[in-house]
Amino acid sequence: MPKVCTLFVRTMSSAPAIPSRPSSPRRRARYEAATSSGISPAATANVPVPSTHFPMRQTVAAPAPRVSSVYVTLITVAALWGAAVGLLVPRAAYRLSVEPEEPWRDRCPAGHVLAGPGRGWLGGPGRQACATTPSPYVAPLLTALACAALAAATGGPRPELAVWLLGAPFAVLLACVDARVHRLPDGLTLPLAAAVPLLLGGAELLPYEAGSWIHAVLGGLALGGAYLVLFWINPSGLGFGDVKLAVPLGAALGWYGWGVLFAGAFAGFLLGAVYGLGLMLLRRAGRSSAIPFGPFMLGGALLGLLFGAFTAVP
Ligand SMILES: [Zn+2]
Repeated sequence: MPKVCTLFVRTMSSAPAIPSRPSSPRRRARYEAATSSGISPAATANVPVPSTHFPMRQTVAAPAPRVSSVYVTLITVAALWGAAVGLLVPRAAYRLSVEPEEPWRDRCPAGHVLAGPGRGWLGGPGRQACATTPSPYVAPLLTALACAALAAATGGPRPELAVWLLGAPFAVLLACVDARVHRLPDGLTLPLAAAVPLLLGGAELLPYEAGSWIHAVLGGLALGGAYLVLFWINPSGLGFGDVKLAVPLGAALGWYGWGVLFAGAFAGFLLGAVYGLGLMLLRRAGRSSAIPFGPFMLGGALLGLLFGAFTAVP
């Protein structure tokens, strides 16, 4: 029988699947530790494994790194959070989508009073004739995607991520209302302008944060100021609601520094310009048609935050 073949037969017939329990106390202790931890005893048995062996038993399953399970959990929790709070967006968007002189809606399209927690502000989108929106799953889906992307870009349980996740449903709500009635209600923009810098101040006090509160405050002032100048130059091009929204967005982007603030603000203008040009090319809009700018500011800020979170160094 050729040599290779002998070796093969011996390997097949005599090699035990698991090395037998060693007799010396030191080796026995190592064997026990190895078998209880799930690592193949062959890996620690101190016996060199011949290279002609079948590779099956040489592969030792490496324990999965802990970081990746934390990462996956974080993204999943963020997505579920986004989907849950996003379910509350359609009703609030319906109630806020009125002309400036009108009061907020308090009845469904069929005329029923919108009752429920939070004076009827918190609740589902309703069904059939009572539905407050024809597409009730767009807002929850958008919120879930934004939250998951923010968690993925942040890469770990950083305190500022909590601020982004709290702000996400309000951002989607503002985008919905602005898309429908070209309005960014003060009832949302002004509390956000106060809450974002305040919450980031809290985040700065916690461990593992990866940003700067003073940059956030300066960023809010800078972007708010820049939008105010644009509003003064051309009041028909921007609404004053856009100026108020620029403060919390500037604060959020500024947390990651001036480069991220600039990138996020520029991305908003770019998205708006691409959309406007697309409409003109499709002959759906003329040069003077007003398009709501809030959704593009918010979309640009999301892109900026994703970039900032991904590149942030704590
Ligand atoms: Zn109804």
